[in-house]
Amino acid sequence: MKKLLALILSIILIFTFTSCGNIEPEGWYTEGEIVLSKRQVQKIIDQEFTTPKNVILIIGDGMGPNDITLAQENVTGVYDFGLVLNQIKNTGFATTHSANADVTDSAASGTALATGVKTNNDYIGKDPDGNDLKNVAEIAREQGKRIGIITDEDLSGATPTAFVVHNISRENSKELANAMVTFKPDVLMCKDYTSTSALLEGDARKIFDNEYLVAKDFKRFKETLDTDPECKKAFFGFLEGFSTVPSYNLAQCAQVAFKRLKNDKGFFLMIESSGTDKFGHKNNINGKLSSVVTLDRTVAAALAFMKNNPDTLLIITSDHETGGVKLPEGDEKLTDLLTVTSHTDTPVRVFAVGKGSEYFKDKTVDNTDIAKFIIKTVKGE
Ligand SMILES: [Zn+2]
Repeated sequence: MKKLLALILSIILIFTFTSCGNIEPEGWYTEGEIVLSKRQVQKIIDQEFTTPKNVILIIGDGMGPNDITLAQENVTGVYDFGLVLNQIKNTGFATTHSANADVTDSAASGTALATGVKTNNDYIGKDPDGNDLKNVAEIAREQGKRIGIITDEDLSGATPTAFVVHNISRENSKELANAMVTFKPDVLMCKDYTSTSALLEGDARKIFDNEYLVAKDFKRFKETLDTDPECKKAFFGFLEGFSTVPSYNLAQCAQVAFKRLKNDKGFFLMIESSGTDKFGHKNNINGKLSSVVTLDRTVAAALAFMKNNPDTLLIITSDHETGGVKLPEGDEKLTDLLTVTSHTDTPVRVFAVGKGSEYFKDKTVDNTDIAKFIIKTVKGE
């Protein structure tokens, strides 16, 4: 009887793993962790979580509610059970307006998500009067935590910089990039070594050249990281960047970050998938929906980490909607569904996993409330 049971169990197990074997991620840093079955995902989400030491915030730039609905139905490469995102139970919405506009830009909404304070469009980490606002990276560092910032766009992008630095304008790319490196997050990843390196000077140049382990592209991550197996140095990796097709690269980079950042005091990690905004502005619906899947695979990687690290809070949201994406009526084609090339004021989705995450269930909060929740968690309050 026991043998029969064992046989049935192993058949179920084999079926579970082979059912998503066809989307095995490429690359070296996978260990099969990114590909999860529905049962594994649910088990992780339903586990007993403990007081969070680690916070992972994943932002789909410009990812509106309808992007998520359409991606689940229309993109090849989604798990056979749909998006991992849609397995998460504690979900709600967030409003995104800025201090001076109904429709925000990524600078004001990034600042709101990083500091809990509304500011004007174009402002990075400053209030409407131009005063510096304390951000979650600064607060996490005060608590002795490690900091990770990952974006699949430029280092000087409004979303990543809003979490770390202060500047009166998102257009000051050079100042923003230099301030990011001078803050020296323990893990920093963005696209394009050549253009990033060209911006750095002064203290940032010295830190980049002397204090960071630098991998100029994803192919060089492994050999670079192998030189520092105990994670003593800060790591700056240049990833593949946002793409028109679903990618595992952001998820793989997240896995690198989890290993580098894990420590007794915990960490704060922000990960941005930017294609949902970039392709929204270009009215490229396939690129936009593919970027939802890229984000979803990163969510799977985060959940895989949480399986053995229940002292982690995971929040997934967006800074704003881009493209005014509507759902199809009748025989409307996907390409007909983007209605504008700009941002909109549509409230965005919020998904949360971990102790206390029921706070977000079935309600609409403001984006500043997400930041306040994260900051309280980081402070251990
Ligand atoms: Zn945008």
